Amino acid sequence: MPEPSRTPWLIEAQFAATPIARLIEENAAVGLVCHACRHKARWPTAELRRRFAGKPKLTFAQVAPRLRCRDCRSEWVQITREVDRPP
Ligand SMILES: [Zn+2]
Repeated sequence: MPEPSRTPWLIEAQFAATPIARLIEENAAVGLVCHACRHKARWPTAELRRRFAGKPKLTFAQVAPRLRCRDCRSEWVQITREVDRPP
């Protein structure tokens, strides 16, 4: 088990602090990996737009505590920034 003192979710600090509206402008995608069951999910730019439209200042630092694995409901989720459309 990971040490209990840290938050269950894992996210890189700079990515966590970036407004989701900016991620959408930059065609970013978001990868999610559950550390309990290894379920993987990927939110492309269109998914970010659909989920977070109208919340331009929201960041993943604010979203992360509410994320749960879709399969096992674990909160041990790693969140990574990806590129929706590689050049
Ligand atoms: Zn899971």
